Amino acid sequence: MSASHLLWACRVLRQRVFKTATKLPSFGSRGLASNAPPKFNPPKVAVNRQSLNVLAVLLATTMCGAVGGYSIAHSTGIPSTQPPQTPKYGTAEDFKLAIKELKEALPREGGISTDEAELIIHGDSPYHHHDGVPHSVVVYPESTEDVVKVVKIANKYRMPVVPYGGATSLEGQVGGHAGGCICVNMSGMDEILEIHEADADLVCQPGVGWMTINETLRSKGIPLFFPIDPGPSATIGGMVSTGCSGTNAVRYGTAKGEWFLNLTVVLPSGEVIKTRRRSRKSSAGFDLTKLFIGAEGTLGIITEVTIRLAPVLPTTVATVQFPNVGAAAEAVRQAINVAGVGASVQCVELVDDNFMAALNRFGSLKRKYLEKDGLFFKFQGHSDAALKEVAKIVKGVCEKNGGSGFKLASGPAEAEAMWSDRKNALNIGLSLYPGARGWSTDVCVPVSKLPELVYETKKDIAAAEIPSILAGHAGDGNFHALLLWKTEEELEVAKIVADRLVKRALDLDGTCTGEHGVGIGKKKYLVEELGPGTVELMKKIKRTVDPLGLFNPGKLYPD
Ligand SMILES: Cc1cc2nc3c(=O)[nH]c(=O)nc-3n(C[C@H](O)[C@H](O)[C@H](O)COP(=O)(O)OP(=O)(O)OC[C@H]3O[C@@H](n4cnc5c(N)ncnc54)[C@H](O)[C@@H]3O)c2cc1C
Repeated sequence: MSASHLLWACRVLRQRVFKTATKLPSFGSRGLASNAPPKFNPPKVAVNRQSLNVLAVLLATTMCGAVGGYSIAHSTGIPSTQPPQTPKYGTAEDFKLAIKELKEALPREGGISTDEAELIIHGDSPYHHHDGVPHSVVVYPESTEDVVKVVKIANKYRMPVVPYGGATSLEGQVGGHAGGCICVNMSGMDEILEIHEADADLVCQPGVGWMTINETLRSKGIPLFFPIDPGPSATIGGMVSTGCSGTNAVRYGTAKGEWFLNLTVVLPSGEVIKTRRRSRKSSAGFDLTKLFIGAEGTLGIITEVTIRLAPVLPTTVATVQFPNVGAAAEAVRQAINVAGVGASVQCVELVDDNFMAALNRFGSLKRKYLEKDGLFFKFQGHSDAALKEVAKIVKGVCEKNGGSGFKLASGPAEAEAMWSDRKNALNIGLSLYPGARGWSTDVCVPVSKLPELVYETKKDIAAAEIPSILAGHAGDGNFHALLLWKTEEELEVAKIVADRLVKRALDLDGTCTGEHGVGIGKKKYLVEELGPGTVELMKKIKRTVDPLGLFNPGKLYPD
């Protein structure tokens, strides 16, 4: 748990523990001191190969049902009239029995917890604006077999299940279920199992963080890294499940590219499947790994992952400021598409004048920046000379578009500090309005539409008088406004502004979420964005894979 997460947890506890205590069943108390999930040494996972057969049957059923529904929807122009399944969950009495069996199934110290504070903390997050919902029990599996035991008990008692990784997701994805549920905290499955340097891939458990993977590779002197870079504490299981990306997406793409080669997954029935083998390419049928990318824990619990790695190249960082975001966005377009240096631009981040002002006050560098809209670039190249050459060309493009104050990092240490300041935008933004919470919006539009989106949004935010910073992955057209609020009135205004931002992005042929996923916050936009037939197809797949509706209910699929 990060320091900010801990601080937040204390705040939430002060505010809510007594209010919620009356609503929660009393399952004993272990006190706050025991909140940190225990570390385990999990045994290696044995994949159930028979389940590949089950998979074939399952998929055939899925696709027949799904495609059937889709064609009805498509041919008639209206969605299938079949109502969404309404799952029937167990009673409070059933859930007590389930918890008793979970204790027997994971009898070791720290295997399960019903500590009130732990239930609340796992059901909420300091990073989003949604109401938290506490879980009924938190379990800490050590192996795929443990996860299977948990899922079988969930089936027996019809108890919902919510997988839990680093809890950095921003749309309420790890909140509990109002009727009660099992939170499956994967932090005990955080091992790197195999590193195949010659193949540039690595097999790991889902609870390991992307930063830990990169630190481990660096410390072993292996010149490879995993380029998908969302929130600093995010784990591989959560990253697959949100279909995340980050600043490196300009050069390396997103989780929906081919960075996750195969997954071992415990399905809602308790069956274990492996989506494919470790080879870099496979044309053996359609891509089941992708079925789970962005599924937000609603189709299975991932217990092992093979990820692809990229060669480490020398990098450096530069910043530059512009008269307005439109000019900055145009410079990005030209730097990537026109100047012939696109392949050497690893990241391009757009920030606004408010962010630069916050950076001057709360950033890690003593040097002060111009408080204007600007860009952060990360360049990559095979040598220092190549990096300087790219920087020179990009500087020229920026200046042609009104850019000024172009500053190239003096060396690796300054480059790292500049970059970590940008990566820390959320916390730096929150410091602008002490005690406030932040709403990190997330839309994405075709790159050429970004200036219009950002310009209109900045105007809207100024008119609404909400404290905010803007930061976006400009090279991909992905844009975040961090809206800050303390009071209910301020939150209401933020809601309106955030809603208008999504509508604006959809009007520009964009998406309601570029990388944070749907959770509970973006469900309402899916039909408008994807169309009723597509959403119905998603629901049919969900119903086929999880007929009891046990996995992460209430998230992702529109009601
Ligand atoms: C400071 C900050 C910066 C961020 N920057 C970015 C960014 O640049 N790009 C970006 O894309 N996101 C960003 N995020 C959001 C977040 O980091 C990502 O959504 C990340 O992928 C979530 O990973 P997690 O391990 O924290 O998942 P969690 O929040 O724990 O879970 C996310 C979802 O995955 C499911 N899940 C977790 N583990 C499993 C599993 N083993 N099997 C099945 N389902 C599972 C959960 O049920 C939930 O639905 C940021 C967040 C913060 C706080």
